Amino acid sequence: MEMETILLYCILVMTWVESSWNFYLVLRQRNVLKTTSVIPHDLNGIISEETFSKARLYNLDSISFGILHSLFDNVVGTLIIILYVMPLLWSYSTSLANKVGFKDSEIIVSIIFMLIMNTFNGLMSLPFAIYSVFVIEEKHGFNKQTPAFFIKDTLKGYFLMQFFIVLLTSPIIYIVNAGGDYFFIYLWLFAVFFTLFFMTIYPDVIAPLFDKYTPLEDGDLRTRIEELAASIQFPLKKIYVVEGSKRSAHSNAYFYGFYKNKRIVLFDTLLIDYVSSDAKNKETASESSEPETKPLVPAEKKGCTNDEVLAVLAHELGHWKGNHVLKQLILSQVNLFFLFMAFSFLFKYDVIYRAFGFYDSQPVIIGLLIILQFIFTPYHFILSFLLTLLTRKYEFEADNFAMRLGKAEFLRKALIKLNKDNLGFPVYDWLYSTFNHSHPPLLERLKALDKVE
Ligand SMILES: [Zn+2]
Repeated sequence: MEMETILLYCILVMTWVESSWNFYLVLRQRNVLKTTSVIPHDLNGIISEETFSKARLYNLDSISFGILHSLFDNVVGTLIIILYVMPLLWSYSTSLANKVGFKDSEIIVSIIFMLIMNTFNGLMSLPFAIYSVFVIEEKHGFNKQTPAFFIKDTLKGYFLMQFFIVLLTSPIIYIVNAGGDYFFIYLWLFAVFFTLFFMTIYPDVIAPLFDKYTPLEDGDLRTRIEELAASIQFPLKKIYVVEGSKRSAHSNAYFYGFYKNKRIVLFDTLLIDYVSSDAKNKETASESSEPETKPLVPAEKKGCTNDEVLAVLAHELGHWKGNHVLKQLILSQVNLFFLFMAFSFLFKYDVIYRAFGFYDSQPVIIGLLIILQFIFTPYHFILSFLLTLLTRKYEFEADNFAMRLGKAEFLRKALIKLNKDNLGFPVYDWLYSTFNHSHPPLLERLKALDKVE
């Protein structure tokens, strides 16, 4: 057998071993969901019968759908490799580039190739996205998107991605081709620069393209958040509320920003009494008309009280105090350095290209795709497992920080409420949990909160 055939088989086996392992874990969790119909003892009083059964059905639906989706992706991915779709697409991109007058320009051909690939991937995942939002999330009461919102959102995401492909492909190829023996150092510096640039513009330029951010109004919550931030010298610049409720009923909170320029973002779905600016306008507009008849039984409100929101924020501030974001950023950049260095050693071997059907050319972008995506499969697998462990450790540290600020009781309440609002299912298969939960399961967090008290 030829070297390239052996390599191809190895890659296919690696990808299928990895996905079989993931399937195995997910099936174990699915089995837990199917068989746990009664609330376990230690969850009594934490979750109601009704929420428990709702959460079970929601998670069962999403996990089964997830299995189908990744099975589909794996089959398509394998077909792309064994039917030599990539070299076909490459020669098509070359002829397109020739037509528009860029004969033999690797950069232009690569851009065309990547744009088509991104379009193809978008089309492949579109039916799954539609089903997930309008069938599964809808059925369980989470979807807030109208079809028009969804279409706009998807198109915005698609064109933004196309824009970044055009922006990034040329410098990457240029650096690899012109950078000499140590091009991986320049490539890495470029990646670090771009990451920092992206992180800087994301909150002000990119995020507002998708969601509306409003500064949190003056009031009890705002004052107390500012007091909390001041008490631990958190350099808080602004507090925003994001109208996540137009997208979904899931709730969250986070902070971002470099150095002394931190901002806190709260999802409106996190706040129990939050009224959006739109809703307020409507209210004033309809004041003169007939008052609406109120429903006899008011729907149970979702979201957290101010005390609970503050406890959630205390947890987030724990991430800041522990430098978790910075540490993870450094870790990912170090990882990128090693990946680029390994790439610089491997990308000259033509067997890698021949395995994927590239016999007469060795395009940089193809080398990057093959090496980073396929050859490094086992490395990515181990790394992502270690990162999951690390994130889990950080979560406990952040909870611990909130506890030291005296927020244990309200954090407990908030965690229980958020679990209820988001229909988290609190029972897990241990092996599935070990590999998949970057956030520790509810019960573990509650137990940890109890311990030190
Ligand atoms: Zn956290």
